[in-house]
Amino acid sequence: MNHGVSLTKKPSVFMTVTWCLMAVLMALGLGACSKEAPPAAAASAAASQAGQKLQVVATTTMLQDLAASIGGDRVQASALMGPGIDPHLYQASAGDVRKMQEADIVIYHGLHLEGKMEEVFAALQKRGRHVVHLAEGLDKAKLLADEENPQLHDPHIWFDVAIWKDAAQYMAARFSSIDPEHAKQYAANLQSYLLKLDELDQYMKKRAQELPASQKVLITAHDAFRYFGRAYGFEVMGLQGISTEAEAGTADVSQLAALIADRRIKAIFVESSVPHKNIEALRAAVKAKGFDVAIGGELYSDSLGDAASGHG
Ligand code: ZN
Repeated sequence: MNHGVSLTKKPSVFMTVTWCLMAVLMALGLGACSKEAPPAAAASAAASQAGQKLQVVATTTMLQDLAASIGGDRVQASALMGPGIDPHLYQASAGDVRKMQEADIVIYHGLHLEGKMEEVFAALQKRGRHVVHLAEGLDKAKLLADEENPQLHDPHIWFDVAIWKDAAQYMAARFSSIDPEHAKQYAANLQSYLLKLDELDQYMKKRAQELPASQKVLITAHDAFRYFGRAYGFEVMGLQGISTEAEAGTADVSQLAALIADRRIKAIFVESSVPHKNIEALRAAVKAKGFDVAIGGELYSDSLGDAASGHG
């Protein structure tokens, strides 16, 4: 579902200026933009000895949350991409690279979620930093293929609680190998986090059962919810594809509008990390077909909400 109509993105997300990438590569290659940080092993050992928290830099808020849940009071976790930022389009700034160089541990998803940052992670790893690549810890047989690029996987794994449990286990294993002195703490944090995830999974299954099958249709701005759909029995449709790099075309809007009107679907959803205009255009197209569909609310697809608002 994507054609070549170009739409404008939020300027904060769309940092495509060439100098930015050059600054990133220079910072990695030459240390030009930051003082040289000590090698990761030495840094984490030093932090451990001093009883200081390990500085963990994650790409997204989902990974920041996972790192904080597993690390507990042993880690100080931050995210490069704050609430509402689209990871598919995000490019690392020189400041981001400095943060990653100075971190004890850097965590990213992989599976091309951070599609424009992969060279940065490779360079960090080459320099001996502790880089946790979450996808390496996942069983690929459990992952969905990207429908448009079947050789790739759908990266939105946080919407399947069972896969997120695997992610939590991998995170705990990596934290324990990097900081073995506190392995017991990570194991205990993991156990309580897994219990919470089980509760969440039960809650989701119970709530999903309350809906008749014909109403379990989730239509959103981009294809972020296929794992959710598989886990909880929803038919999911995104106006854009797996990555927001692929733009929705007028043909997509018109097809989806016809389907919504035919099946009398009650609501469609905007996402916090994707501009709302596509879904608003879809709603208008449905209206032109004589049916009124509501915007059901804003979903946190590729970014958590603002912690201060209670949606973190
Ligand atoms: Zn996405």
